[in-house]
Amino acid sequence: MRRIVLFGYRGTGKTAVGSVLAQDLGVPFLDTDALIEQQAGRPIPEIFRDEGEARFRAREREVIASLPGHDVVVATGGGVVMDPANMEHLRKESTCVLLTADPEIIGRRLAQAPRPALTTLPPEAEVAEMLARRRPAYAAAADFCVETGKTTNHGAARRILGLLRNGNIPDAAREAAVRWFAQTPLPAPERVQLEARLTGPGHDPQTRFLGVAGWPCGHSRSPHLFNSLFERYRLNCHYTRFEAPAIGPIMETARAIDAKGLSVTIPFKQDIMSCLDEIDDAALQIGAANTVVFACGTAYGWNTDWLGIRKPLAGLTGTRAVLLGAGGVAAAAAYALMDLGMEVTILNRTPEKARALAGRAGCRWGAWDDFEKADPDLVVNATPVGMQPDTNSPLRDDQLKKEMTVCDLVYTPPVTPLIAAARKAGCTTITGTEIFIYQAQEQFRLFFGIEIPDTTLREILA
Ligand code: NAP
Repeated sequence: MRRIVLFGYRGTGKTAVGSVLAQDLGVPFLDTDALIEQQAGRPIPEIFRDEGEARFRAREREVIASLPGHDVVVATGGGVVMDPANMEHLRKESTCVLLTADPEIIGRRLAQAPRPALTTLPPEAEVAEMLARRRPAYAAAADFCVETGKTTNHGAARRILGLLRNGNIPDAAREAAVRWFAQTPLPAPERVQLEARLTGPGHDPQTRFLGVAGWPCGHSRSPHLFNSLFERYRLNCHYTRFEAPAIGPIMETARAIDAKGLSVTIPFKQDIMSCLDEIDDAALQIGAANTVVFACGTAYGWNTDWLGIRKPLAGLTGTRAVLLGAGGVAAAAAYALMDLGMEVTILNRTPEKARALAGRAGCRWGAWDDFEKADPDLVVNATPVGMQPDTNSPLRDDQLKKEMTVCDLVYTPPVTPLIAAARKAGCTTITGTEIFIYQAQEQFRLFFGIEIPDTTLREILA
């Protein structure tokens, strides 16, 4: 039997529901908090008091790394989801169930069995604060969600057994999805694989689905990347292409098959915003989302483009930057550069659009031929100039100086005409593939709570 891991905040019933579930399944039940206490030879409040939270977390990591991999039900401490190393261990070959309850119910349960404080806030405020802080991590941890506030421990265990047996997608929804994907341009080999996972004989009802949403998105390397990662991290997931001319039907299909997440690409990064239930602050300010995580019936929107752009430029805090372009990804780039405290000038073919974006981002703007006036240390190309089959560079060779750092967001071809010219001029270069890798790394963390090393991503995309 695949290992079953229960996540959730304190007081959501992980221990009580987990022991009933293990009994029903006839397998051992392990509680990571109890294992920590056993190994430390004293109760958790004492470990917190005498050794501090950091040492408790270290003990917790050790316990999690040594858990059996199958035929067991595991209840975890409420904070394990915040540590990517824990998530890598706990998600491997496991079915992960998030237990939830209303904050008032959690508060009432905790009043009966107090735990060590995690903040200096009063108990009720602490529950609200910690739930908000951990919400993305709980969403990432959940394959399935079970509400425990209005049911008994036996009722919650029965609901989990039902999910293990039947999954969370009705047969009619599986069949409708097969029909929907059949009328999209999904390549035949990928369609065959998807149909097998959805309705094929002996399909696994617990498999979770993800995909790239775009029009077109036949060129996207995300299915290859994510499916390779699922294999490597032993996740029971399948990644496909939701390729359709409008985002509405894509979201309908994604919700109908209880999708775990979507990577959103051209032309839906703005349109998706009106289909989301909750949106991260950065995505709101950028005005676009490229990542959707579905958990417990809620669609959360994120923008990882700006994080992907920010990461390799983090050492250039405070420099003078020119951003070429004022479209979708330029908005994410402007947010990243401003976040790094750079002096940013946006130059665009249509200066009006540069002005509008600069107004939103709080930076300078100009027309395309204002490049020399801006005298940048860093250039970021956020136009599609140089994207296959185009062989142009957005800048003339004589505009490149060896002191410059040049970042091209275009990633097809891997070495664009701009990157080739910048290397020839002796500039430091950052390719679009690097940015793609960093944004995918963030996306994977939002989907599953796991942090993938850059090297693994480069290896898969090589
Ligand atoms: P977009 O919203 O269509 O914006 C395109 C921008 O480029 C607009 O400002 C447009 O100017 C300008 N532009 C288009 N053609 C031009 C030309 N021939 N000369 C000068 N400027 C031109 O596109 P986007 O979503 O921002 O994507 C831009 C590029 O970034 C694409 O190549 C995409 O593949 C790449 N990208 C890479 C990553 C990554 O992870 N590496 C992520 C996202 C996007 P006007 O305002 O005048 O039309």
